[in-house]
Amino acid sequence: DRVVSGAANSQDLSFEQSLRPQVLSQYIGQDKVKDNLAIFIEAAKQRKETLDHVLLYGPPGLGKTTLAAVIANEMGVNIRTTSGPAIERPGDLAAILTALEPGEVLFIDEIHRLPRAIEEILYPAMEDFCLDIVIGKGPSARSVRLDLPPFTLVGATTRQGAISAPLRDRFGVLCRLEYYSENQLTNIVLRTAEILHTGIDREGAIEIARRSRGTPRIANRLLRRVRDYAQVQGNGKITMELAETALERLQVDRLGLDHIDHKLLKGIIEKFKGGPVGLETIAASIGEESDTIEDVYEPYLLQIGFLQRTPRGRMVTKLVYDHFHIEIPTM
Ligand code: ATP
Repeated sequence: DRVVSGAANSQDLSFEQSLRPQVLSQYIGQDKVKDNLAIFIEAAKQRKETLDHVLLYGPPGLGKTTLAAVIANEMGVNIRTTSGPAIERPGDLAAILTALEPGEVLFIDEIHRLPRAIEEILYPAMEDFCLDIVIGKGPSARSVRLDLPPFTLVGATTRQGAISAPLRDRFGVLCRLEYYSENQLTNIVLRTAEILHTGIDREGAIEIARRSRGTPRIANRLLRRVRDYAQVQGNGKITMELAETALERLQVDRLGLDHIDHKLLKGIIEKFKGGPVGLETIAASIGEESDTIEDVYEPYLLQIGFLQRTPRGRMVTKLVYDHFHIEIPTM
């Protein structure tokens, strides 16, 4: 497991539950999304209606699951959670939908991974709160329409482009989660430290935030590792110096890059003169899958301006040469 991966590992899952903000006012950052949701939630509550269906999209670990639970909480209803890959047959979805209580939130994580046949069952459920089921087989088969209680579907995806247009069009509210600023992550680290009763000063929190790749899940994970280090090697309190030493030992550099990022970036410089070079060629040269590079490694490097996608392939930018103190080759 990469310590700087946005995806959850098993340790994160047990630990994260206690850290989840419960209401919008505790949810740090994503101000535009929060402002919009606050209005839609208030309006739905005033009209005594369910909230429109909400699609949350953005890279892993930015707080989609957390936000789904906050939405249910703010609406004063329960949330039921499932995921695209967990729904294999039409009957699975029918069972979930018919068990909903009026007004509840159904959260489907990784909604882009729903099989197409199942997606089609969702359309009437989302639009008219009903379910068309076919009973029997062959010539005697007939279709029966079942009414469902009104509900709010909250879908989450890391890839907005992977969602089919008919499904996307059925969401009334589309929210794109952005990477967090250093200041917002600092506040998240301070909040988590308080919940965990860990001593930390602001500079220590900034040092962790800076290396967290704009992602709360990574910030919380790094805090947990630095806390261990502080306990064993220090006096339990996290300062800037202590955080710096601990994170260097974890091989997370001052921008949150690890050995895999280094291998990727230096590989492009050393083997392909900085690019442009095709994704498949990079993948073969460093022994990684091209999909993994595209979905997992690249997004943050693009975000911080270290990589550029050009029609002829990937290129590293001047920032990379500066970061590694390598001289830019002359043509
Ligand atoms: P994935 O899609 O990979 O499950 P996610 O986007 O759903 O990721 P969450 O599980 O919601 O991410 O968040 C990861 C952790 O980060 C949670 O433990 C939560 O406490 C923390 N977190 C996320 N967003 C915020 C926030 N805005 N304020 C405070 N903590 C946050």
